[in-house]
Amino acid sequence: MKIAISGAGVAGPTLAYWLCRGGHEPTLIERAPRFRTGGYLIDFWGVGYRVAQRMGLEPAIRAAGYQLESLRSVDVDGRTLASLPVDGFRRAARGELVSVARGDLAATVYDAIRNDVETIFDDSITAMHERSDGVSVSFAHNTTRDFDLVVGADGLHSNVRRLAFTQNPAIEHYLGCLVAAAVVDDYQPRDDLVYVTFSRPGRSVARFSLRDNRTLFLFVFRSDQRDDPLGLDQRKALLWREFGDAGWECKQILAAVDAVDDLYFDTVSQIRMDRWSRGRVALVGDAAACVSLLAGEGTGLAMAGAYVLAGELMCAHGDYRRAFSAYEKHLRRFVEGKQQGAGKLLPVFATETELGIRIRHLVMRAMSFRPLFDLIVSRTLRDDIELPDYPM
Ligand SMILES: Cc1cc2nc3c(=O)[nH]c(=O)nc-3n(C[C@H](O)[C@H](O)[C@H](O)COP(=O)(O)OP(=O)(O)OC[C@H]3O[C@@H](n4cnc5c(N)ncnc54)[C@H](O)[C@@H]3O)c2cc1C
Repeated sequence: MKIAISGAGVAGPTLAYWLCRGGHEPTLIERAPRFRTGGYLIDFWGVGYRVAQRMGLEPAIRAAGYQLESLRSVDVDGRTLASLPVDGFRRAARGELVSVARGDLAATVYDAIRNDVETIFDDSITAMHERSDGVSVSFAHNTTRDFDLVVGADGLHSNVRRLAFTQNPAIEHYLGCLVAAAVVDDYQPRDDLVYVTFSRPGRSVARFSLRDNRTLFLFVFRSDQRDDPLGLDQRKALLWREFGDAGWECKQILAAVDAVDDLYFDTVSQIRMDRWSRGRVALVGDAAACVSLLAGEGTGLAMAGAYVLAGELMCAHGDYRRAFSAYEKHLRRFVEGKQQGAGKLLPVFATETELGIRIRHLVMRAMSFRPLFDLIVSRTLRDDIELPDYPM
């Protein structure tokens, strides 16, 4: 089948890879003018890690990533308030854990297909007309084309979801936070392989030293207003309002971020839908069921979703209805469990009160006690799902 995939993030290229293995002909459509790299740091483990192993990508992802040594929480003067070694997380994940920039992970997947799959950059689907034998797809820039199926892998604010499903604001569940991330050059100080976080009530900023003298910053803050301020300058101004007087290195960090053009900025939300497909259109990854950054496993779930969707399409021999239904049946309960777990983690990312921050530091220190750590973390990191074996 000819299958249009909107979005060349993580889910899109993974799906394209497995569809090719199943004998289909995918076309990726990406809104950005070129492949998006960099971005924020993600922890990658679990079911997605197993998909990456099946794709033979584990060595490349590990080479692009980092083996963190510790998480450190600091006060206004940069003194350590609590520190937690990361080796316990690695132990719980049986070594199958790596921290990697989202874009670098996506690029590793994309490299595996870039020569085999047509990618249309700088374009977006504007309309889809479904017929009994296919879907006619219109683009913002290219001419209309026919496909057998369309898959929306275009993230939290999915375009395909908006076009194919009745727009229902209840689908997006805002979790009360905004998030921003940026990478800057030549920032000092550096703390290699340490994830340093500074928290004030309702907000936190983290810095992580990347290779090539680059540093990544992540801001998370509570906001009643979910509407995204329009331009880059307004977004930077909002960060100054939230963090300018917070203390620690915040002023220096904000000044460094002022110099960048590429600022990631978004709401922290989940996507909860009754169904992940309609007719010849299906959704995968964040587009179908974004778990949010709080769950910390969105990329893995996106890759697992792509793998299962391609596998079921292969097994169904063209019966896409059967395939879509089996894909959803395999994953829905698992993904919903991750979404519920994520909601409970909001106090960790943007702790609301000073007392809450102190309690969080006490918990971090207590977790240095190995039996307690193993009890809490191994349960959190465990993925209770078997990846099906497909003949692809
Ligand atoms: C700050 C932060 C931290 C996170 N931490 C982790 C973590 O530690 N571990 C983890 O596993 N996950 C983490 N996540 C979640 C993870 O990044 C996502 O779940 C994952 O990227 C989802 O992949 P995706 O391919 O579905 O969507 P995306 O990666 O968002 O890709 C969507 C693609 O679609 C494109 N697109 C959008 N609109 C259109 C359009 N109209 N037409 C064509 N293309 C379009 C976009 O440009 C993009 O390339 C984090 C997320 C955030 C925001």
